[in-house]
Amino acid sequence: MLRVAVVGSGPSGVYTAQALVQQTRVPDVRVDVLDRLPCPYGLVRYGVAPDHEKIKSLQNNLRSVLEDERIGFIGNVEVGAKGLTPARLLDAFHAVVYCVGAAQDRRLGVPGEDLPGSRSATDFVSWYSAHPDSPEPGFALGGVRSAVVIGVGNVAVDVTRILARGAADLRPTDVPNGALHALAASGVRDVHMVGRRGPSQAKFTTKELRELGALPRVAVDVEPTDLALDPGYADPSALPAVNRRNVEVVRGWAADPSGAAGPAPARRVRLRFFLRPVELLAGEDGRVAAVRCERTEPDGSGALRGTGTYEDIEAQLVLRAVGYRGVPLAGLPFDRTRGTIPHQEGRVLRDSAPSPGEYVAGWIKRGPTGVIGTNRPCAKETVASLLADAAELSARPLTVEPVQVLRSLGHEPVGWPGWLAIEDAEAALGRSLGRRSVKIPDWHGLLGAARGADSARGDGAAAHGNGGAMPVLPGIAPP
Ligand code: NAP
Repeated sequence: MLRVAVVGSGPSGVYTAQALVQQTRVPDVRVDVLDRLPCPYGLVRYGVAPDHEKIKSLQNNLRSVLEDERIGFIGNVEVGAKGLTPARLLDAFHAVVYCVGAAQDRRLGVPGEDLPGSRSATDFVSWYSAHPDSPEPGFALGGVRSAVVIGVGNVAVDVTRILARGAADLRPTDVPNGALHALAASGVRDVHMVGRRGPSQAKFTTKELRELGALPRVAVDVEPTDLALDPGYADPSALPAVNRRNVEVVRGWAADPSGAAGPAPARRVRLRFFLRPVELLAGEDGRVAAVRCERTEPDGSGALRGTGTYEDIEAQLVLRAVGYRGVPLAGLPFDRTRGTIPHQEGRVLRDSAPSPGEYVAGWIKRGPTGVIGTNRPCAKETVASLLADAAELSARPLTVEPVQVLRSLGHEPVGWPGWLAIEDAEAALGRSLGRRSVKIPDWHGLLGAARGADSARGDGAAAHGNGGAMPVLPGIAPP
């Protein structure tokens, strides 16, 4: 039997597990999918915005993969913590595929970036997604009249939309109750989404952009002087399809500002371009009060140049949505420039040579780009490499059972039944609030719910002989 660990249960991890069990080249494969959190699905659970219910429903597809009898889920286990090193994992598995994503937000590198009221979009996303590591305090929006979102990628569009959308629209979603109340008390009237280049070069995708114009009682404004600077806006014919379609949407708003004909808008989204943030300015209370931007313009060679003219945009809240970055995992090589693990067709490279039994897939392999589906071919490439190496890998005798390793190091894993119990607890929380399933936002609540599964099943810790650790681990019984 070939025993494989997949580290990370987001789309890239689950697609990797799926590709491993769906192939026929190596018939006897057992995959354990490990996650730092007691909950699976990575950014589908903790990144996709709550109002994107269709994308959220992808969790059902990921669930059916994780329910395959050849696949086990081992949550609440952090590789790199409590002595669980990459080398130690190789004692228990013939191969390990790292699908750990890109966990950190990129920095702007401008003065004032860390003023109170300036936060990363990642923090905001974690907050409205009920991530248990979401930093305190959350977001108090009552005193915010004008918000600036820096960046024009899909994360920027997500956070702009959540700020602009009425809280009532989010009530039927799984958004945590605290965030729902804070959004209901929001004083936000204007959300400025600011790009340093033009609309024809923005990173958002058209469906996501168009959604901004479909929000009830939200007007979308564009600034003609910004648009005039973009040669691709004037003549989009040579642009790639997605950029051309984006330009068409922006042109529509320029010709007929969204919401102009309907009832008075409650909020306004202002799309701005060719503005490079150079400083965040503090008000008298020491909190952020404005973003100072330098006007940029195309330099004729595809790059930008500053013009030396500046514009201050009022902001009591700034969300920096300028991309993610991979973080190093102790014991694995790391390319600091790209923020990825160096690899060749998914094989981890140590000193330029493939490291036997170590693989990567997803954002930590290729950087934080693409949509969820991009992870499928990425995972397949990695799995093809692993299968080509399988004969050699499975010839190596394993010295310990995964369960043994985890328990001996003091990890308290949560298995699939524990996760199902969290789901049940979230459904019960929703019912008690008169809502659909509502996410539990903290470690204590999540682990308490997972432990409940264990006692309800009547086969508690002692029965599993792990001295009181959370034993909900039927998926990782010895082969
Ligand atoms: P992204 O697509 O790389 O966009 C980052 C944005 O930040 C760009 O507009 C970039 O401008 C700007 N930026 C970078 N450094 C900057 C600086 N120093 N000053 C000003 N602006 C700066 O990243 P993302 O929005 O975080 O998205 C990450 C990935 O997740 C993408 O593949 C995205 O499509 C995906 N995603 C998809 C969805 C969805 O499908 N609904 C939702 C969320 C995320 P330049 O282009 O000028 O560098």
